[in-house]
Amino acid sequence: MPTKRKGANLSRDTNKSRSIRNRRAQRTEEQVQEENTGARVRMAQLRQEQLNDTRAERNEVMRLEQRQSHRFTVNRRRANDQQRQQAHRAFVATSFLRLAFQYEPDIEYYAHSKVVIGVMDKECPYYHDLKFKNEPAGMCCASGKVQLPEIETPPEPLNGLLIGTDPDSNVFLKSIRTFNSYFQMTSFGAT
Ligand SMILES: [Zn+2]
Repeated sequence: MPTKRKGANLSRDTNKSRSIRNRRAQRTEEQVQEENTGARVRMAQLRQEQLNDTRAERNEVMRLEQRQSHRFTVNRRRANDQQRQQAHRAFVATSFLRLAFQYEPDIEYYAHSKVVIGVMDKECPYYHDLKFKNEPAGMCCASGKVQLPEIETPPEPLNGLLIGTDPDSNVFLKSIRTFNSYFQMTSFGAT
């Protein structure tokens, strides 16, 4: 005897489905409206609940992430503060040993008395060249003992190329570094 297939249960002519159909057919317009409204309200409630669940879950994840990031920021800031204080202490104690390894951008290193060398406004009485205030007097010209000869005019065609009277002067001045590199070994002297 062939077994009854499972799908056969889906037939619309079971007793249950028939009674449901009959009841649905006998509903008044008012009842239909009422049931539809009820179904809509239930569906809306369900959707709202799901939405609330998702929102709560997302909020929880966000809260955890924020807490983690806050903890990270606090730790980082604490470490930075410690390093900055250490650098400040070293700077105030005028110990420059390994200070570059604790460089702090907000410290005005350039203003430190050890760093400031002043302006180049100290004039040599012999050649009137300018020096910094802590440079020794004989630093530039050994207190006038060094006698510098006048700069001689270069020989031709070099002079014409340099002062612009030679037709090749433009090219020469533009390529002067290359030429210098080519010939640098020719002026090499050794004993
Ligand atoms: Zn001098």
